[in-house]
Amino acid sequence: MSKPKITINQDKCIGCNTCPLVDPEVFALDQSTYKAIVKQQPPDGQIPPQTQTAIDSCPVQAIVVVEEP
Ligand code: SF4
Repeated sequence: MSKPKITINQDKCIGCNTCPLVDPEVFALDQSTYKAIVKQQPPDGQIPPQTQTAIDSCPVQAIVVVEEP
């Protein structure tokens, strides 16, 4: 079964801080680069609603979910 993995395109991220505000469990803003990072992947192989909201809230679509085998 494939497992979703959240990645952040560092070139696209503009450091707007929206995703850490919407879902602080998963996202954080790296204080040295001012780009978002993934603190932890969803534990059960699913994207929780709050995390999906954060992904959808990104103004530049920098958050990408890839399926890992
Ligand atoms: S919402 Fe998008 S642009 Fe804003 S910090 Fe998160 S990844 Fe970066």
